[in-house]
Amino acid sequence: MSLQFNLIIIYFLIINVIEMAVIIPKIPDVLNPPVPDNVDLVEQSEFLAGQDPENTPGLFQGDMAMDNKMYKYWRVGLRWDVFPEKLWPNATVPYAVSPLYDAADQITILQAIRTLNFMTCVHFVPWDGKAKDFLLIWPIKYPKGCWSFVGKTGGTQILSLQPPDRNGPNCLGNEGRAIHELMHALGIFHEQSRADRDRFIKIHWENIIPAFKSNFEKQSLKNTTYSFEYDYNSIMHYGKNYFSIGKGKPTITTKVPGAKLGQRSSLSVTDCLKINDLYQCLDNPKLTKKYYNICKTLGI
Ligand SMILES: [Zn+2]
Repeated sequence: MSLQFNLIIIYFLIINVIEMAVIIPKIPDVLNPPVPDNVDLVEQSEFLAGQDPENTPGLFQGDMAMDNKMYKYWRVGLRWDVFPEKLWPNATVPYAVSPLYDAADQITILQAIRTLNFMTCVHFVPWDGKAKDFLLIWPIKYPKGCWSFVGKTGGTQILSLQPPDRNGPNCLGNEGRAIHELMHALGIFHEQSRADRDRFIKIHWENIIPAFKSNFEKQSLKNTTYSFEYDYNSIMHYGKNYFSIGKGKPTITTKVPGAKLGQRSSLSVTDCLKINDLYQCLDNPKLTKKYYNICKTLGI
């Protein structure tokens, strides 16, 4: 490769990085912890050494910052009739990425955003510095890990993605964990919390670290409805060892032999349809056809 060609590549890489850093996010007054007062923060970090970075924040179900009112009404996706204010208007989510992330981590975050923008009718748009409500993606130190609020909270809304360190890739080994947290911010919950989950999975209560048993509760049918079949392959499903007391002691197993449980690579077909459904893009026949095709083709 010629020197000239290399220089051109370096030039474009620098331009890209400069472009990404043009809008410096407004830093909220209170960054640590940016969670509501009534969130049940558990201080059990000694139990969680070596656990998945989604499990470490000690928030509701591991990685969701959530208040008690929402807890009563949640389902696989938030009910907009109960929480209209949590819906991002026009399916548009302004976002800013912390300049504390290095270039490689910024690219991983942008890949997650591009995937969601392409596969769904939700638009993540760079924050213009003016919109009152926007998502601020920031490597929060406490609670550390990968975590998000559920749906739009209003104002500057933190979504935390812990960058790689000497212990591992944390939340940015690939785009999958960023997609998972962005889906919480869109209003979507964990798949294994569905009221009908016991037909599909077995929870091994004896293998769960006692302080985290509540993370495995499900919701009553009173508050839950689902548009799609149970999805083992959802990016929103816990893995089989989440919050386990030790190696070889799974906390969730499937009732269908050979079914794989959860993944953090990309949207499953159903995840993709779920987002498009939640943001009312499957109401319009033309869009339905478009997004069914995209989800079936690109969903994993
Ligand atoms: Zn989660």
